[in-house]
Amino acid sequence: MKKIWFVTTEAVPLAKTGGLADVCGTLPSILNSRGFVPEIIMPWYKTIEAKQVGRMMVRLGAENRYVRIGRIDLAGVEVKLIGAPQFFHREGLYGTESGSYADNDRRFIFFSRAATKYIQRQENTGLIHAHDWFTGLVPFYVKTRPELSEFASVFTIHNLRHQGQFAADSFRLTGLDWKHFSPQGVEYYGQLNLMKAGIVGADRITTVSPTYSREIQTQEFGEGLESVLRSRREDLTGIVNGIDTRTWNPEIDPYLGEEEKFGPEDMGGKDKVKTNLLDKFSLAGAGDEPLVGMVSRLAEQKGIRLLLQNEQAITNLPGRWLILGTGEPELEAGLKRLEKSAPGKIKVIIDFNEKLAHRIVAGSDLYCMPSRFEPCGLNQLYCAQYGTVPVVHRTGGLADTVVDVRETEDAGRATGFSFTKYKPRSFRKTLEAAMSCYHDQPEFWKQLQANGFEKDFSWEKSAEQYVEIYDSIS
Ligand code: ADP
Repeated sequence: MKKIWFVTTEAVPLAKTGGLADVCGTLPSILNSRGFVPEIIMPWYKTIEAKQVGRMMVRLGAENRYVRIGRIDLAGVEVKLIGAPQFFHREGLYGTESGSYADNDRRFIFFSRAATKYIQRQENTGLIHAHDWFTGLVPFYVKTRPELSEFASVFTIHNLRHQGQFAADSFRLTGLDWKHFSPQGVEYYGQLNLMKAGIVGADRITTVSPTYSREIQTQEFGEGLESVLRSRREDLTGIVNGIDTRTWNPEIDPYLGEEEKFGPEDMGGKDKVKTNLLDKFSLAGAGDEPLVGMVSRLAEQKGIRLLLQNEQAITNLPGRWLILGTGEPELEAGLKRLEKSAPGKIKVIIDFNEKLAHRIVAGSDLYCMPSRFEPCGLNQLYCAQYGTVPVVHRTGGLADTVVDVRETEDAGRATGFSFTKYKPRSFRKTLEAAMSCYHDQPEFWKQLQANGFEKDFSWEKSAEQYVEIYDSIS
């Protein structure tokens, strides 16, 4: 039995801001049944109720700080919590609406040091799997400390945009020798870069789709770290995330009424969800026009700008739009203006609402995901299970998981529509093609839906690929 520690700042259902939480909350429980003994190590946020099982001292710069260790069980997986209320009893995980916490360098360097120390004190050795910049120092400690030489590490990049870059002064908090503050180490143009620490430190690096793993080695998507990533390309692998089919399944979806549940053989429930959504949001009167859905963080990354630049086309094309999201105030305001330009046709809901997210995915005919870049993306995977046809920008995980109608000769493979150039016109043309297909080729549309249902986006499949990586270094 191999021991594997997941060092992470999020895991569903304990704490979540993005896909990172899904990976760290789901993958360990699957590994449990595949010959591994997984354990999660994460911060003890104030929302997590747990029992204290130990304590230790952890250094941060010149100080020694006291840490409480908590323990809970998550679907058969042990979770160890690093208790430091001054750092982790906060309103948000990384910041508030007004920005990131000013002491995020201290918070996550401390967490990385504490997690490493905790692991080092255990009797057995094994693998350490760290996630995103918050824990980037962990693989670096494993690589550089002789007392950790029996361990191997994997580092996963969930989103390269956020790198944990801090002034050089923060380096002294790490306890590392100054020789590591170099271009071969954790320094990046005179600053401390914690994402880079993970990339240069880990034995293997993964990211959340094969296409994104190639894109991040280019200047366009590499966020400045492309040459570091290129230097590690032999050890870099892309693995698409799975989805939680216990909640994202139209036959048992807890957010659909009994009459609304559906499956590939009987899609009646899907029509009911659509009708109920159109009524609830005063979008009725659409006849047989498609309902286009969108659920997203409202950030530049998500391609909201392409919608705003196509206001006229969107108002003129057939279809009703239901958009749910929160995020950057400027994009929220832009979408609200779009809504005003076509009342009764476009509804924008500024909220974070799990139930409505499920219902939009379930009731929509088309789903819009024009992300500028997308490491993996989850909603296009959900859509496949719900007979909802995605329109996406062909990038990252979207390129790997949506097969464009025009890209394949084989009608049995196509699952959606995608555009290559990130330009308003390309997006508009693809949207028009999807709308015409919906209207003019109902039989082919059914085929697209059926092809989606056939796809296997389960965690079991992704877990197999992670196991291959773990086996290669242990
Ligand atoms: P990212 O992690 O970049 O935000 P993903 O597509 O990987 O993008 O995951 C986003 C997840 O968050 C999806 O499950 C999506 O449905 C959900 N989500 C995003 N915005 C909202 C919202 N406003 N309300 C409910 N769920 C949302």
